[in-house]
Amino acid sequence: MAAMLSTSTIGFPRIGDQRQLKFAMESFFKGDSTDAELLAVAHKVQADAWNLQKAAGVSLIGLDGTLYDQVLDTITWLGAIPPRFQALSGLQRYYAMARGGTALDMSKFFDTNYHYLVPELGPEVLAPGKSSLQPDFSGPLEKLARGQAVVGREHAVPILIGPVTFVSLSRGCELPLGEAVSRLLPAYCALLQQLAAAGAPEVQLHEPVLATSEGAELRAEFEAAYAQLAQAAGTVPLHLVTYYDDIGAAYPWAVALPVAAVSLDFLGPPGAAVPSQTLALIKQHGFPSDKRLGAGVVDGRSVWKDDGTALALLRELLDAGAVSADRLLVTSSAPLQHLPYDLDLELAAANTAAAAEPQLPPALAARLGFAKQKVEEIVSTARLAASPGDGSVFKAVQPREQQVEDHRAGIAAEWFSRPQSFEARREQQPQFHDFPTTTIGSFPQTAEVRRLRQQLKSGKLTQAEYEGLIAGHIAHAVGVQEALGLDVLVHGEAERTDMVEYFGMQLGGMLFTRAGWVQSYGSRCVRPPLVVADIAYRGPMTCWEYKVASAYTRKPVKGMLTGPITILNWSFPRKDISRAAQAMQLALALRQEVAALEAAGCPIIQVDDPALREGLPLKRERWPSYLSWAVDAFRLCTGVAAPHTQVVTHLCYSDFQDILPAIDRMDADVLTIENSRSDNAMMAALAAAGYGRDIGPGVYDVHSPVVPSVEFIKSRIRSFIDSGILSGRYDRVWVNPDCGLKTRGWPETIAALRNMVTAAAEARAEV
Ligand code: GLN
Ligand code: ZN
Repeated sequence: MAAMLSTSTIGFPRIGDQRQLKFAMESFFKGDSTDAELLAVAHKVQADAWNLQKAAGVSLIGLDGTLYDQVLDTITWLGAIPPRFQALSGLQRYYAMARGGTALDMSKFFDTNYHYLVPELGPEVLAPGKSSLQPDFSGPLEKLARGQAVVGREHAVPILIGPVTFVSLSRGCELPLGEAVSRLLPAYCALLQQLAAAGAPEVQLHEPVLATSEGAELRAEFEAAYAQLAQAAGTVPLHLVTYYDDIGAAYPWAVALPVAAVSLDFLGPPGAAVPSQTLALIKQHGFPSDKRLGAGVVDGRSVWKDDGTALALLRELLDAGAVSADRLLVTSSAPLQHLPYDLDLELAAANTAAAAEPQLPPALAARLGFAKQKVEEIVSTARLAASPGDGSVFKAVQPREQQVEDHRAGIAAEWFSRPQSFEARREQQPQFHDFPTTTIGSFPQTAEVRRLRQQLKSGKLTQAEYEGLIAGHIAHAVGVQEALGLDVLVHGEAERTDMVEYFGMQLGGMLFTRAGWVQSYGSRCVRPPLVVADIAYRGPMTCWEYKVASAYTRKPVKGMLTGPITILNWSFPRKDISRAAQAMQLALALRQEVAALEAAGCPIIQVDDPALREGLPLKRERWPSYLSWAVDAFRLCTGVAAPHTQVVTHLCYSDFQDILPAIDRMDADVLTIENSRSDNAMMAALAAAGYGRDIGPGVYDVHSPVVPSVEFIKSRIRSFIDSGILSGRYDRVWVNPDCGLKTRGWPETIAALRNMVTAAAEARAEV
């Protein structure tokens, strides 16, 4: 019997199988528990995760685990503490950086839906000539000691975010990137020496930035940094770990960096149009014979069980002779933190659920795999790959070349376009005075509204009773808007828990889990839906609330839908068909909803696609293909609207300046867009680009409870005027908040909107 290949893990869910760490954090934040109590839970959660990996038979276990965020952990041990936190210490300082009024900013981690805390490396932290780093290695050393106690010395592998990735995730640094990295290196080198002295069998340095276009340009910075790191590490092997996609053009020099092992992503993001090129790169350039290769062949970002691809990739790798079996490590394509903990928990939860709730069909469950199952796949793949076998267990590998796919196949070309041009149809749409006012859709989701949903679920309310009460909330929201004098009203979204879930629950082909929690950031977890079959439209989803709202007012009420790209980007996609194909299916279903709203008399339909930008591939050369199908999906969804129906879209969560042509191609009649936090940058970019359709740049930030003054909002409107946008067609410049108001309370919402309406009226009188 041949021995099995070696195995390695590079990350695991950190929040606990029952979300213990989330609840422990929340209790700690409320002041209901002590430091020691919180740490006890955190350490137990980590020990459980490491034990699980050990029990599965993993040889090199990455010691994942964090009290909030791994980037914040790095900030902490490096001592890259912004001045406003320097007077604090310990957990108090750690959580002050994570949350509250002066916390660090949060941003999406690469192309995942995980949010990290953005390091601030301004001159106070990394000044030219001096640096105020105060490294403290106690965290990583203590974690290694605990890991060693749990899984044994030879299996316990520290994980560090690599210095180049760390700096590239940061903000405010005035030094060139390479220089900033070199400032951090003394701390990295000293820590590596201490980890080595403590008996680490190797140290993982995670550098996912290598998978991005920007990372591929950082050869000199990587070479300089890793030369120093390798020297400092001495005899402890360094393991460079990359993921979220292949490393493309960086491959030849990145695998030549002075490290003992390199882990690569063989799969790329699920459903990507361009599959990972890792295998092709290895075949083309070879792999250094003095290094170990971590083959990320088990899909770490997909909830689907391996279908034989992992083994087939390994077999092809071995057959190509690029690397020998004794130098191969089997691992996941990405850290498993983006997956739910364990499928068995979902099955157990399904067993105890009320009979009326939808069940996870057994045939489907058999095809799923969450983080625990992926760890088991890593080990079983390593075992099978090393056994001589007859080859029949290996699935023939599909040619993994880039395919030019026609996602529009089978859909009539004219469905992707409105029947008339913007200028022609705009004349037929509702007309308004200068600076018309509106909101983005949701009104405060009060505890009372949430309680109603709970009571419906638990059977305390009948469907009819529930609808009656929701209608009351809609009436209230409409009444408030009438009283404030807004021009275009919304129903307020009281019936929606979440803008994706509300639609996913009503469409065929999407599945919602009970226990499939994934950490979104810190103490917040989400349960992303799974696309499990072809999407089917089952009937109107939003017409009832439109009709209820419009019965209470003579003013136009906007219909409110979530767009196809946002639904897809916030779900786990299928693997058997491309994301583009899934987007088209969603678009076809939502298109029927647009038609249904129009038939119900709705004059203005808003299709929110705030996650459009989040789906961009990490490599710029792959942007055009993504944007092509993503925008096509939006157009397919809205193309059915008659010329007299005004189509609105809403974008937020990112800066969109670099994809203006794509936004233009969406061909929405009105674009409402987050604008105020970026200090009008979006507005200025649209004006500069000569964007010609109606625009509603947000006039105030909805994330803050501060009520913006009339003067403040007026200054915003004046800046729109000054920008020359729409050449004085102020009836097409909308005044609205940055985003929905669901996280706000009623008093501040009413006060802010009152000021907004007043500011618009005063601006109107001035022009
Ligand atoms: N219509 C949604 C709301 O107002 C839009 C939310 C969003 O853009 N994230 O809540
Ligand atoms: Zn928004």
